[in-house]
Amino acid sequence: MTSHPSHAHEHAHQLVPSDPALRVKALESLLVEKGLVDRAALDALIDTYEHKIGPRNGARVVARAWTDPAYKQRLLTNADNAIAELGYGGMQGEHMVVVENTPKVHNLIVCTLCSCYPWAVLGLPPVWYKSAPYRSRSVLDPRGVLREFGLELADDVEVRVWDSTADVRYLVLPERPAGTDRLSEGELAALVTRDSMIGVAKVPAPVQERHR
Ligand code: FE
Repeated sequence: MTSHPSHAHEHAHQLVPSDPALRVKALESLLVEKGLVDRAALDALIDTYEHKIGPRNGARVVARAWTDPAYKQRLLTNADNAIAELGYGGMQGEHMVVVENTPKVHNLIVCTLCSCYPWAVLGLPPVWYKSAPYRSRSVLDPRGVLREFGLELADDVEVRVWDSTADVRYLVLPERPAGTDRLSEGELAALVTRDSMIGVAKVPAPVQERHR
């Protein structure tokens, strides 16, 4: 994680000192500056959360919802409890809300104020999620942002943008791709990407092994 002076300044300007991400960045900067912490070791730790632990938790939640209609219903009505059923938690006071993508509705998650993000299920937010352009343009021009991520939505698809806060964190339940009827829950989870759970991508269909 690198420190972003401009980002920190925005936080300070908006008087949001309670954001844990800001506190962590401030602490990290101090520790590195004082030579108490090795930034490379920190980066390795963060990489683990960002790419291994985090998104995999969310992917398991999504795969369960795809394969168990009753679980999906619980997830959409009380996400905190449903996520806790799978053993994931560690949320500090904020509530999770899961929003479902359908052929006619596409959900996109942002935090316009800073970088609120569902850490317990997605790990650390990617750098672009915290960037000022993503935070502002996701609201002003969500279709344009999605296009830059390579996702072109038909005109009749409604785009809903959800602004995360310190109190509410959103997770997108992406659409299950075609051609996955015979996959196990574990195989399905392996298909689910972090970006699809933020809403900037769809879950890619599996590569078919037709010729064996
Ligand atoms: Fe935030």
